[in-house]
Amino acid sequence: MTDIAKSVAEIIADVRARGDQAVLDYTERWDGVRLGPGDLRVPAEKLEAEVEESNFAAAFSRAVERIEKFHNTVKPRTSLYEDEDGVLMGMRWTPISSVGLYVPGGKAAYPSTLAMTALPARIAGVERIVVVSPPGPDGEISPQVMMAARILGIEEIYRAGGAQAIAALAIGTESIPRVDKIFGPGNAFVAEAKLQLFGEVGIDMFAGPSELVVYADETADPRWAAADLLAQAEHDESTRVTLLASGEGVLKAVRQGVAELLEQSPRRKTIEISLERNGIFEVISDPGRAAARINEIAPEHLALQVANPFSFLPLVKNAGAIFLGKESPVAVGDYFAGPNHVLPTGGTARFASCLSVEDFMKRSNLVRMNLDFVRDSGPAVEELALGEGLPAHADSVAIRCQEPGQARVRGGLQGVTPYLLVEEEGKTKLNQNESPWDIPTELKDEISSRLRDLPWNRYHQGIPQAFLDRIAADADLPAGSVLAASGSNLILQWIFEAYAGPGRSILVPSPSFSLYPLWAQVTESRLETVQLSDDLSYDAEAVLAALSNGRPDVTVLCLPNNPTGSELATEDVRKIAAAVGECGGLLVIDEAYREFSAESFDRTALVREFDNLVLVRTCSKAFSAAGMRLGYLLAPVALATELSKLVPPFHLGLFTAVLGDVLWENKALFDERAAMLNAERKRMQAAAAELEGVKVFASEANFFLFEVADAGKVHEELKKRGILIRRQGGSERLENCLRVSAGTTEENDSFLDSLREIQG
Ligand code: PMP
Repeated sequence: MTDIAKSVAEIIADVRARGDQAVLDYTERWDGVRLGPGDLRVPAEKLEAEVEESNFAAAFSRAVERIEKFHNTVKPRTSLYEDEDGVLMGMRWTPISSVGLYVPGGKAAYPSTLAMTALPARIAGVERIVVVSPPGPDGEISPQVMMAARILGIEEIYRAGGAQAIAALAIGTESIPRVDKIFGPGNAFVAEAKLQLFGEVGIDMFAGPSELVVYADETADPRWAAADLLAQAEHDESTRVTLLASGEGVLKAVRQGVAELLEQSPRRKTIEISLERNGIFEVISDPGRAAARINEIAPEHLALQVANPFSFLPLVKNAGAIFLGKESPVAVGDYFAGPNHVLPTGGTARFASCLSVEDFMKRSNLVRMNLDFVRDSGPAVEELALGEGLPAHADSVAIRCQEPGQARVRGGLQGVTPYLLVEEEGKTKLNQNESPWDIPTELKDEISSRLRDLPWNRYHQGIPQAFLDRIAADADLPAGSVLAASGSNLILQWIFEAYAGPGRSILVPSPSFSLYPLWAQVTESRLETVQLSDDLSYDAEAVLAALSNGRPDVTVLCLPNNPTGSELATEDVRKIAAAVGECGGLLVIDEAYREFSAESFDRTALVREFDNLVLVRTCSKAFSAAGMRLGYLLAPVALATELSKLVPPFHLGLFTAVLGDVLWENKALFDERAAMLNAERKRMQAAAAELEGVKVFASEANFFLFEVADAGKVHEELKKRGILIRRQGGSERLENCLRVSAGTTEENDSFLDSLREIQG
């Protein structure tokens, strides 16, 4: 921070804290006069007093007339147009309610600047025009400024200057109510205060040193050109004047003019310093190059004293005010011509404009639509809104597109395509990872008889709970650690609903189970993915990196992974669970195929070790019960309790609970089946790997993935032979991969024989 910036920051803080008192203290310090709070505002009598007749006053009044007339012609008007869809559009201009005009004191007290800010403000329709100007040692504002204020009909004027006046205008004090935008030039403190308060209050522009470029050719009058340069240079020592001459002769003549006029100038000293420091005198004969130079300087004022200024004008891109022809002196523009003399300085004409009426106004867009148009553009708007993750936007359009009486789903669901089950015909079904063996008839009978003896007419009381407690006890977990549902799909959806949702994120492996992205969409969560390695094994480091980058709310690991069969060492899972915990997230391990992977991958113990981990399991695969729909979860009791909020009462039917009981009582049978399927899967993998053009991936599940040159063709050929396996849609990486589930030995043989035949 510069020293000026520091002291301005202090002044602003002080005015904020102490209001009038701070303004008065700084006035004493900087302007050398002690005022009381009642002295800040100039009394009405002083403003209403007759303007003393003088030539200056008469001249000022004439200037006011011209400036007013011009600014009236450039006042922006509200525009409206209706397009072919009947949509009415336009822009409405309204005045800013209150503005503060800063008028510097001392030498630089320019009444003309007050006219150039107050008149456009009035024409814009600003209700409250406030003037601030520093008092002199006598406690009064410069008489010229007062005279100007009287002629302009200003009613509210304060004796305050510097950063404290800007702060008072921006923040408001007991005596000086705040304004909406501040205008007018000032010293370095004023400029810095405007900069610091910008945003809290509107600011016109950030004034810098004044500039003039005169572009003169041999038709110019060298003395007139010289006079214009001097007029600019007399402002102060930092003023920058430039002469671009079309030839040596012109340059020389103008230089000579400067030297002669300087002799007689009362402000010779200032002019000399300014010319010495910042004066540029250059010969540029080519008009194109001259224009390029002007555009580079982007001067506040540009005087085109050339034969045909209008033909040169199109080349000029950057300039605050352009004076066309030698008959147009800048000084007349400064006071009298009409257009505003508050202009962009310091090269800001590259992007900024001259002050005008519109700076005292604001634009508002106007739009009036009709329902036909909204209904017609609805789908496109919804597409854009959902693409930006803003479903309520989509909703606000959809609600208008809806036919009366038709119910409407929530925005996030509108873009969702429901899960579509493709029914395929074939006698050998190795495409859905099911068990090839049905539940034995004796067990079905057992289930039926137990069910027959239960009351079907009553809401069940104890039975499903007894079943849940049984699973918990088997896993050596306390009661309350288990929830069950009609399929683990439902459990996963509950978890996503509870722990993800709008504004939250889910991290899933890729490629993995195709429903995870769907659930992210359904719950309006953001989906993040972490890729498996090239060999489709899990990359624990990549998962950890994704965690620290994305800090997801829910992390899913599918172990073994569907469709790749990949597993992850329990030690790595521990590390991931710990990292997920550090992010304040939840780790979900989808163990749909756990019974097929080696015992070393048993993760039951993790539920006791971590507070933020859920194991999701199913009876659809190893327990031969896909059609019966039974899935369950194991979680720390506190977590299971949270999730149970989503479980509707009596959700688990007696049927499923009884089924579960019987399955558990016969667990040994299903373990045996799992072992057989595992052995079959290994046999199939080995046999397939023998085949030409078949690449087999490692698996710990009852299925495996293999890659061929043309998966579409192999899939089709197998189908012709009545064998269904799964093609991996949706993932480019798996485009030529096929997933096959282990079936009975005969089914597997017929698959292998056919594959052998196809791969020929
Ligand atoms: N998770 C994974 C990884 C799966 O493959 C499946 C079924 N294909 C499920 C969950 C859902 O199983 P269910 O709803 O039958 O329990």
